[in-house]
Amino acid sequence: MAKKNPNLIILSSGEAFQPFRYSVGVYGSRFFYELKENKKFFGVRCPVCRKVYVPPRPLCGPCYRLMDEWVEVGPLGTILSFTILRFAFIDPETGQKKPVPYGYGFIRLDGADTNLQHFLELPKNSAIAIGSRVRPVFQEPRQGNLKDIAYFEIVGG
Ligand SMILES: [Zn+2]
Repeated sequence: MAKKNPNLIILSSGEAFQPFRYSVGVYGSRFFYELKENKKFFGVRCPVCRKVYVPPRPLCGPCYRLMDEWVEVGPLGTILSFTILRFAFIDPETGQKKPVPYGYGFIRLDGADTNLQHFLELPKNSAIAIGSRVRPVFQEPRQGNLKDIAYFEIVGG
């Protein structure tokens, strides 16, 4: 018989409350601190291949080198790929259906070599496309997590 997990509280069928706190580590803390306090994006650069990772992480996988050169990137970026969601599903963060349609895509912030995945506002008067330039729209108040960015919007859209 499986041992019962004392930290997992079943509220009702399909719902579970997990009272855990998760540490994002030193690199994640710096990233989210700058996002929350200064609305800035920071990554780290590999000393060997010069690749800039955003969000930051301690090691460059291919080079297996510690990265400690912090680099400000963005806030403007470019859409590398996207999809438009037209079917409402339950948002695991809120438990509510997220109004549709909305976009979701990979965004390459200026100066970064990796991508962020985030929501995209669908422009009313212009098209969304691969290569579209975007900027972040921040939530207020910010809390130091990726939801501090409400979505990215098309520049000039
Ligand atoms: Zn590297």
